[in-house]
Amino acid sequence: MDLVDTSADFWIRCLRNDSLLQPLWDSLRHNYRDYLRSPLFPVVLTVSSYFVLCLPFLVCDIMGERWPLVQQFKIQPSRRPTASTLLHCVGVTLYNHVFLVLPASVAQWAWRPPVDLPDWAPSLLELIAGVIGNLLLFDFQYYIWHLLHHRIRWLYVTFHAIHHNYSAPFALATQCLGGWELVTVGFWTTLNPVILRCHLLTTWMFMVVHVYVSIEDHCGYDFPWSTSRLIPFGIYGGPSKHDVHHQKPNTNFAPHFSHWDKIFGTHADFSFCTAMK
Ligand SMILES: [Zn+2]
Ligand SMILES: [Zn+2]
Repeated sequence: MDLVDTSADFWIRCLRNDSLLQPLWDSLRHNYRDYLRSPLFPVVLTVSSYFVLCLPFLVCDIMGERWPLVQQFKIQPSRRPTASTLLHCVGVTLYNHVFLVLPASVAQWAWRPPVDLPDWAPSLLELIAGVIGNLLLFDFQYYIWHLLHHRIRWLYVTFHAIHHNYSAPFALATQCLGGWELVTVGFWTTLNPVILRCHLLTTWMFMVVHVYVSIEDHCGYDFPWSTSRLIPFGIYGGPSKHDVHHQKPNTNFAPHFSHWDKIFGTHADFSFCTAMK
């Protein structure tokens, strides 16, 4: 019993310890100060994490049946992306980055002054709570936004339909989006940490985690380490829940968690979808 108490006490002290992340923060500040202060840094961080984190799932898609061990976790095993669908998504993603993300980044770089780096790092508890708080806030905003874009036909056809070209999603479909949707998502991802008054380290961590969970939602595989399997009680939706949205677009509007769909009666699980086939 003593051992359990001591262990629990150790983790609580670690989470609350203000100086745990300080060496990492000091090292980042001293070695990469000019890069981190640049208004371009968050853009470079999110764009590079997107392509790096897509890569393992892309390899799984390309290897296909040659990797049966991996394919046993494919949510819709009979529907794999073809070379032309992968290339189409790469084309849309590059188009959006060249004609939207790049000009917006250059404008930020030209007009926004470099940010100040605080001396103190956040505690681990502050960082984790900040990341979860940002995910919850984004989940709520996108639920409303997404629902409206499905219920109002003009919004759906004009902006959101491109994302529903594929009823069996795959990692590269994550940013196969219309420009308006990409701008909205980017706006909330940038604004929310400011609303929640997060430390810069927390903000950057949220941005990378958000890129990862968005890719995971679309990856088309329900691996044993999927976020939805690691978080208990069906709190988190994950890949199988978002896969259902791509098969039955009037369900599962929340991107990450399950509660809004359950509260508003738009929740559907994967067994429901397979039963409808
Ligand atoms: Zn989607
Ligand atoms: Zn949708």
